[in-house]
Parts: sequence; C-alpha cells; structure tokens
Amino acid sequence: MSPSTLGRRPLVSGNWKMNLDHLEAIHAARDLGLRLQASDVASVDVSVHPPFTDIRSVQSVLEGEGIPVALGAQNCAIEDSGAFTGEVSPVMLAKLHVEYVLVGHSERRMHFHETDAIVAAKLRAVLRNGMVPVFCVGETVDERDIGLTQERLTAQVGAALTGVPTEAVASMVIAYEPVWAIGTGQAATPEDAQEACAWIRGVVASVSGEEAATTLRIQYGGSVKADNTESLMACPDVDGLLVGGASLDAAGFTEIVRAASRTGR
Ligand code: PEP
Repeated sequence: MSPSTLGRRPLVSGNWKMNLDHLEAIHAARDLGLRLQASDVASVDVSVHPPFTDIRSVQSVLEGEGIPVALGAQNCAIEDSGAFTGEVSPVMLAKLHVEYVLVGHSERRMHFHETDAIVAAKLRAVLRNGMVPVFCVGETVDERDIGLTQERLTAQVGAALTGVPTEAVASMVIAYEPVWAIGTGQAATPEDAQEACAWIRGVVASVSGEEAATTLRIQYGGSVKADNTESLMACPDVDGLLVGGASLDAAGFTEIVRAASRTGR
C-alpha cells in the first residue's frame, strides 16, 4: 500500500440515478443487505443514492434491517426552506439520516445548467447541514481532446472549495468522473484515473492545505464494473468508486464492493 493511502477508508457509492420506484428500491436495498457480508464492509464504506421519492423507504430498510450501507442523495437545494417549488431541502435530507449528497454530477451540470457557482453553493448547503458532499468533477471529451483536463479540474475544484474551512474539506469526498466515461462502457484507464486524481489532490493542497488534501477521499466514477474495480482501486490516489449503471443490480454491486475490499486499501 502506498503511504499516501494510509488512513483513507475507501467509499463505494451507488448512484441509482432516475431508476427504481420506491417498491423496487425497497427490494434492491433488501437484496443488497442479504448479499453483503460483514467481511465485505470491514474495510470499505458503502453508500446508495436513490431518487428522492425512495429515500424514506430505503432509510427504513437500511436502519430497520441493520444493513451496513449509508444513505445518500443525488442532489439538494441550496436553501434550507422557503418558496422554492419542486426543490428538496438539505435539512429534510439530514432529517432522514442522509449521510452523503452528490453535488455537481455532470448530468446536473449538463441537463440542468448547474454552474460552478451553483455547485459551490450546494456544497456549502450540504456541509451546513452536517452531511458529506460527494463533489463531482470531470472533463468533457472535447476538453480532454484539446488538452484541457487539468485546467478544467483546477477550475472546478477551485470554484467549489475556495473559502470552505479546511476541516470541512478534509471530511469531504471528491468524485473524479470524466464525462466521456459516464454510461459509455469506456472507463478511464487506471493510469488516467490516477493522474487525474493525483492532480485533484494537488489542487486541493494548494487551495485548502496539505492536511485536507491527504485526508479527503477521492473516488473514480465512469463505467465501473466488477472486472475493472481492482485495477482502479490499486491506484494510490483512488479512494473509492462512484458507480452508476452497475449499482442497480444488487449482485453486481456486491461484486464491486467485494473486489474493492480485496484490494486491501
Ligand atoms: C455515475 O452516474 O456517476 C456514473 C459513473 O455512471 P456509470 O457508472 O453508469 O458510468
């Protein structure tokens, strides 16, 4: 194990996106609970991020059945309450024992026009309510093709983290998700993932200090499957995985968690 990984407990997160109604979600959470063994989660944290309408149901299953999986959300409002029709408050999520909230997922940036400024405000809303942001960054294929990957990552991280207290940054998760790898079946190579995650950690060090940078966890996300998990998790700066499509199947997601825990990180 590289010394730089010491102390960072991996986090494997399942982003269910806009899939599974509340009955299907109850079934999926139970199925996961039946499959995951104590040894699978002895050294790895696991979270699931259902749609808003499923969160209460999934909370009841996870807590009621003692399933060692943390509850996550995919998004939240910037404000805690008020006249924001259709939004879901971070206060409401915290009340349901949501621990992790995705912030700035590329699908939100792309389809719902979330700018770096909006993402920065959401990140603060999550922290203000005692939850952990899983702050998503990543370059598009066009940015990659013209050599702008590092510039884009630097801008995204700088815009979100500038002014956030160091201890809060240390507690966060950043998900490096190259947009071209999401849902395409074309995952980044471990070399590319490592290079980008190490770059992100360097940017965090310059914005928030070395201690925050060595403590915060960085996930890789984009077409993760059981058969590429071990090679991605072997990268010293990859502290976990954000899994979309492959997390919808409890058996497949369990295999990913198991493969991640086999890497001994
Ligand atoms: C995601 O939704 O964050 C994601 C990485 O999706 P997929 O695993 O399907 O590429």
